[in-house]
This record gives sequence, C-alpha cells and structure tokens, in this order.
Amino acid sequence: MVLQDLGRRINAAVSDLTRSQNLDEKAFDGMVKEICNALLEADVNVKLVSTLRKSIKATVNFKDLPPAVNKKRLIQKAVFDELVKLVDPHAEPFKPKKGKPNVIMFVGLQGSGKTTTCTKLARHYQTRGFKSCLVCADTFRAGAFDQLKQNATKAKIPYFGSLTSTDPALVAAEGVAKFKKEHFEIIVVDTSGRHRQEKDLFDEMTQIQRAIAPDQTIMVLDATIGQQAEAQSKAFKETADFGSIIITKTDGHASGGGAISAVAATHTPIVFVGTGEHMLDLERFQPQPFVSKMLG
Ligand code: GDP
Repeated sequence: MVLQDLGRRINAAVSDLTRSQNLDEKAFDGMVKEICNALLEADVNVKLVSTLRKSIKATVNFKDLPPAVNKKRLIQKAVFDELVKLVDPHAEPFKPKKGKPNVIMFVGLQGSGKTTTCTKLARHYQTRGFKSCLVCADTFRAGAFDQLKQNATKAKIPYFGSLTSTDPALVAAEGVAKFKKEHFEIIVVDTSGRHRQEKDLFDEMTQIQRAIAPDQTIMVLDATIGQQAEAQSKAFKETADFGSIIITKTDGHASGGGAISAVAATHTPIVFVGTGEHMLDLERFQPQPFVSKMLG
C-alpha cells in the first residue's frame, strides 16, 4: 500500500463517520478500527498502532463530550494530531554551524541509497553557502569510490577516497583531516553498507566513528523496507547511535509505515526524504506537512 493510499483510507474512514447520521460511540469505534487496520497494512508497528488507538479514544472521550461540541472537528483533529505524533520524534534535528567543520557520517545497508544521498546532502548545504565535500570510506564494495566520484564531479563537490586501501577508518580519518585543514564546513563521510547487518559491518562503523568523531551520524533507510525497519534501525542505533534519519525512495511504491516505525523505535528525527534518483530530489522532512500530504 503506498503512502497516499494509506492517507486516502484514513480520510475515507473519518469522512464516512463524520457524514453519517448517527455519530455515536459504536460508529466512532468502527472508524478507529479501520484507521488502525490501514496503518497495520502499511507496516506500522503493532505496538504503535495500539498506542494510537488508545490516544484517539482518550482524546475523543464520547461519554464525557458535551452535546454541543463539534464532534466532527474534534475527531478530525484527534486523528491528525495522533498521526503527527507517530512521526514526530520530539527531538531537534542537527543544524550545522558555519565557519567550522561539521563532520557528517552516513550509515545504512547497501542499496539503501547512501552514496546517492551523501551527494544530495553535500549539495544541499553547498547551495546554502557551506563549503562542502565528500569522503568515501567504503573500501569494501568495488566501485563505491567510482560512484561517489561520478556524483561528486557532477555536483562539483570536492571528494576524497582510495582505490587501494583496505582500511576504511584510516581512509575516513585521512579524508576528514585533509578537508578540515582546508577549512571545509560540511564533510560528508560515506561508509560501507554490505548486504546484511553483519558483525563486521557494525565493527567497521564503530571504528570509523571513533576515527573521525562525527558531529552527526545519519542513518539512511529505504522506504520500501516495511516491517523490518524497526529491527534494522534499532540494531544500527545500538551500534552507531545515529542522530537523524533520511528516508529514501519515498517516490516509489513504499507504504511509509516502516519509516514511521523507525522513528518511533529510535526516537530519532527524520531530517530529509529522498524523492527520486536525481541530485535535487531531496526534501526537508516535517511531521505536520508529511501527514497533511499523506492525507491529501
Ligand atoms: P548505497 O548502496 O546505499 O550507497 O545506495 P546507492 O546510493 O547506490 O543507491 C541505490 C539505488 O537507489 C540507486 O539506483 C539510486 O539511484 C537509488 N536511489 C537512491 N535514493 C533514491 C530515491 O530517493 N528515490 C529513488 N527512486 N531511487 C533512489
């Protein structure tokens, strides 16, 4: 189910109820149930859905509502607010500072869109007046450095990497040191993802993190990941303790529920979403507009 379909279903449930003649508790319960089913089918974590159900029912407490109250408005607002709460981590996203190096390290599984997103982010800050650059610390995947080089060249962003080294922490440290000396303000470090959450990958992430002491670690999460999102983001959080999330491929046929669950599981803000393969396809994430857009 794509995100817009989820929104459409939630909208339909709310308007069916608010249009109905007898807006009673039974009909209201039916609407809450339909919303929860839609969220579950969109891969939102079961526990989260259960919390949402309780919160909506507590906010719209039918028994204690004064007769004159506008039930329709109250219900619409409760549903909207609870959906916003689901994607709002209540944590401030990282803001880079001008005039000093801001080291940003990327983590995530292979294929999630890390390398593409590294360039998108470096470019994003570059166009906002930050002197930006890219470091490739993926010495595992053949072609990783080439891919980063190509992207960086297209975006006219200086880059650093090694075709021969097998020590990612060393390459990362060298790149960061070089660019710090050259007074770069945004230093984005791409790391290896491999296929699964293997121990080697996590060891490597820890070593790189120790070597470069990033100001911010960002986890890249593929929107199509579905129910595995919660476990995956928790595993990464325990090892790399990322401070923000970027969800990629939100332009595809993803439900978005996985993304919602990842935020809730890690209490970590989504800062941007990837909306396509092109360099410019990166948008700031904000809970309220995200939910508004979802609801259409
Ligand atoms: P990495 O292995 O994590 O570094 O992933 P890549 O950056 O190589 O991306 C894997 C694939 O996903 C590539 O084909 C990218 O073009 C594609 N990709 C990345 N971000 C997005 C996005 O936001 N939307 C779409 N449609 N494709 C994306």
